[in-house]
Amino acid sequence: MAAPTCTKCHERPSVFHRAYSGERLCAPCFRSSIKERVQGAINRFRMLDHWSRVAVGVSGGKDSLTLLHILKEIEDETHGSDLIAITVDEGIAGYRDEAVGIAERACRRLGVEWRLVSFRDLFGRSMDEIAAEDRVLGACTFCGVLRRRALNEAAREAGADRLATGHTLDDMAQSVLLNLLRGDVGKMASLDPGGYTSPGFVRRIKPLCEVPERETALYAYLGGFELQSTPCPYAGEAMRGDARDFLNEMEARRPGTLFTTYNTALKLIPAAAAAVAMRTCRICGEPSVGDICRVCQLIDKK
Ligand code: SF4
Ligand SMILES: [Zn+2]
Ligand SMILES: [Zn+2]
Repeated sequence: MAAPTCTKCHERPSVFHRAYSGERLCAPCFRSSIKERVQGAINRFRMLDHWSRVAVGVSGGKDSLTLLHILKEIEDETHGSDLIAITVDEGIAGYRDEAVGIAERACRRLGVEWRLVSFRDLFGRSMDEIAAEDRVLGACTFCGVLRRRALNEAAREAGADRLATGHTLDDMAQSVLLNLLRGDVGKMASLDPGGYTSPGFVRRIKPLCEVPERETALYAYLGGFELQSTPCPYAGEAMRGDARDFLNEMEARRPGTLFTTYNTALKLIPAAAAAVAMRTCRICGEPSVGDICRVCQLIDKK
């Protein structure tokens, strides 16, 4: 049976059914719909100024590669922001080294300046070494906290005034759920897709905040991106995986669940942001929500 016709152009056969909106899209219409959605989020949350210098966190995975390609396209059309890609090498043998190569090649092809920073250089040990030590917390807790610090430092050193990350709608919805399950409502403030400014802290923006992960995967596939084949060996330790499974099941049964969960966060963010006062860590001097930052707390725990 022939594929149904695209509901946007009414010409080409559709390759994708967007269950939550009812659209059936051909490849070109699907790709332009993703770009329009990213552009829409950038405008609505006032993520960029014409003169912004944007550091883009590029892990080498499908989400960050999609982000880099779309931002480059937008930047080429508007001659607006200046892009610089930053890859963090956490030091996960067999996993991150493959992604680092993919990120470097993608940046070279796009003509985007690329910088690499590593956990080893910044914190004195790789993620594999941290994971092998005696620890109570999951590997992903260390990895996430240290990666956020590494990206902030690298973006600041690159003179960037924005730090764009490839967080998708799924990541946003999972974080909402995790913050609720952990009782960490204050952390909702960090989910603001447009980010906030604070001394020493590069404003974080999330241009893919309204794009489901399934759609970044298709975007990457249709774009012929080189993609990673190995999963992270520590991925199974994360509670996030449980939140992902639950939300995916809900989304399959009730299309639109991811958007509803994300919209809940948008309503909670202003109250959460008002309750968070940024200060300076008394050990390392980096921006922190408490007296001692998460990085210093974690390094002390090991
Ligand atoms: S799965 Fe966890 S340990 Fe692996 S890269 Fe992601 S955050 Fe780091
Ligand atoms: Zn079409
Ligand atoms: Zn500190």
